[in-house]
Amino acid sequence: METTAPLMLFNSLTRRAEPFVPVHAGEARVYTCGPTVYNYPHIGNMRAYVFADVLGRTLSFKGYKLTHVINITDVGHLTDDADDGEDKMERMAAAQKQSIWDIAEHYKQAYWADVRALNIRQPAQWTVATDYVEQMIEFAKGIAAKHCYELESGLYFDVSTVADYGRLARAQTEDGEGRIEAVEGKRNAADFAIWRKTPPGETRQMEWDSPWGKGAPGWHLECSVMSGAVLGFPFDIHTGGIDHREIHHPNEIAQNQAHCCTNGLDDPRNSGANIWMHNNFLVERSGKMSKSSGEFLRLQLLIDKGYHPLAYRLLCLQAHYRSELEFSWEGLGAALTRLKRLVMAVEQLRARDEDTSSTAPGPRFQPFLERFDAAVSDDLNTAIALTVLEEVAVLKKVDPAEKLAALAAMDSVLGLHLLNLTRTDLRIRPKSAKINEAEIEATLAARKEARAAKDFARSDALRDELAAKGVEVMDGDPLGWEWKLVP
Ligand code: AMP
Ligand code: ZN
Repeated sequence: METTAPLMLFNSLTRRAEPFVPVHAGEARVYTCGPTVYNYPHIGNMRAYVFADVLGRTLSFKGYKLTHVINITDVGHLTDDADDGEDKMERMAAAQKQSIWDIAEHYKQAYWADVRALNIRQPAQWTVATDYVEQMIEFAKGIAAKHCYELESGLYFDVSTVADYGRLARAQTEDGEGRIEAVEGKRNAADFAIWRKTPPGETRQMEWDSPWGKGAPGWHLECSVMSGAVLGFPFDIHTGGIDHREIHHPNEIAQNQAHCCTNGLDDPRNSGANIWMHNNFLVERSGKMSKSSGEFLRLQLLIDKGYHPLAYRLLCLQAHYRSELEFSWEGLGAALTRLKRLVMAVEQLRARDEDTSSTAPGPRFQPFLERFDAAVSDDLNTAIALTVLEEVAVLKKVDPAEKLAALAAMDSVLGLHLLNLTRTDLRIRPKSAKINEAEIEATLAARKEARAAKDFARSDALRDELAAKGVEVMDGDPLGWEWKLVP
């Protein structure tokens, strides 16, 4: 399919939407800051990966050959941004009395399960931080003389040695406000560790030899090294959550600049990536998003309550990625209904036309595809794109195979898995449910018989019986949904 709208993306560096001009013609190279695998991701974290996935899918839709890299941080991320505090991984390993490697493996698998459930495409490569430590040491050696100094606790990056440090963060750094020192002896408040030495007399579970002594790499160093190693500087787009715009990414940029200007050309354009994109936060008023508070909002919790994970994906798509999104169960329920409507529309089409593989959307669908293209090309306006898809889903008197082809083209960007999802898939049984599907179907069949025999007393009794077990019978439901379990 031909897409003609120019692709505009909001660049946090310039705070403007800019036309996408790839570094390598016809290609798009994207790096996404991935999770620190010390705990389960919460659904806010997953919003960051849904956003990165939609970006990648849009680039593919626009015809670019995509190389997407997401990292897995299994070392070096401290509990405190000021280089103070403990390594998140070490702390969890101690709390759970397990090795760090086991902790990393367990939570990496849990993260990947969420990635699959949300239909996030596999990137070209997952880079795991501990696989790149040798390259991190080499990178640090390359910039140490000109840009770093050593303290007892480690090797620190002197942010005054690069031009225009912190420009990505803007207001937050202008007066040095919000910047933190914490480590005694730092030359500038914003200086940060790129190598953390193991304190004398201690042994860490994860430590490596380096010219600065045994220790572990700093978190910011990891992303500079992995992104540069796999994608080459400069690459096209670097993504992350909006919190990374303040410290992590300015620090990556400072390192990239130092690394790229070893020939003496210190230019803020050497930021490593041309475009830096950030998703805004998913917020939840009662604080259940915090991983430290017992039960937090994991994707599995949503599933346990009977919500299909793709309803959460749809919830994310309803908002612009740069807007804050407030989570509520009501909102999720509404997103699930919207998804059901789409799935029912596609199911009906599939029933009419099995083989759509060779069909292309005909001219009738062109105006819709153009509007869809314009929406996603306008800094990923998925909210509008979704409404265009819905308009197509309800079009009457059109060729079903062509309609399916149009929906498939749109869903290649939105990733709602519409051509495969079925009504049965969406009927997730809440953990608390007191009844299974076979019982529900049997009771409904008995009710049908009672109604056919005009035995309305019995029919009502069966309906009440189902209601007592949490099943709402949906006679005359416009979607034809028939019944649902009330979460
Ligand atoms: P972390 O594992 O803490 O490094 O976070 C993984 C990703 O989730 C990062 O890109 C964060 O910026 C992002 N993130 C963290 N909290 C939220 C949230 N509430 N909403 C959206 N993104 C978030
Ligand atoms: Zn990162």
